[in-house]
Amino acid sequence: RSGFVALVGRPNVGKSTLLNKLVGQKVAIMSDKPQTTRHKIHSILTRNDAQIVFLDTPGIHKPRHKLGEHLVDVALGALKEVDVVLFLVEATSPPGAGDKYIAEQMKTIKTPIFLLINKIDLIKKEEVLERIVSYKDLLPFAEVVPVSALAGDNVERLIDTIVKYL
Ligand code: GDP
Ligand code: MG
Repeated sequence: RSGFVALVGRPNVGKSTLLNKLVGQKVAIMSDKPQTTRHKIHSILTRNDAQIVFLDTPGIHKPRHKLGEHLVDVALGALKEVDVVLFLVEATSPPGAGDKYIAEQMKTIKTPIFLLINKIDLIKKEEVLERIVSYKDLLPFAEVVPVSALAGDNVERLIDTIVKYL
């Protein structure tokens, strides 16, 4: 099976870190440079059962000018064309304005959206459920997956779940 997966989330939630973990190479690191974040960075994961192309989506945030509006439109357009959207949030804090803005923008998108609660290595196990509950109402999510992009916790399970949607 094969398909396309887009990563979205406010800055610093761990999109580049997850991309690197998913494909096992440092291809997404360049996305910290503003001129490259405007373009989608493609990373390809190849397993014997699947090939998945990951897109690091340029920032979806409240536009302050016309160019910003255009960039948000481009990002949202990309989300409509993929098989799965991974919406990353941080386990260490409840939904903030940045998370809510992105969720609001994605309301009309029909693509299955996974809620990825990242950085679970930074919180206690018993706090994970509480965090899931605080984010779950933002959108109807196809799947909810707690992960640690840095430690690699649950990343293999995430890939298995993605493959089911391709
Ligand atoms: P991006 O802006 O969404 O691409 O976020 P980055 O991947 O650049 O990560 C932002 C910061 O969070 C970096 O310092 C990462 O090392 C850190 N980070 C990312 N994922 C995790 C995680 O699962 N656990 C911890 N502890 N830190 C993480
Ligand atoms: Mg990044």
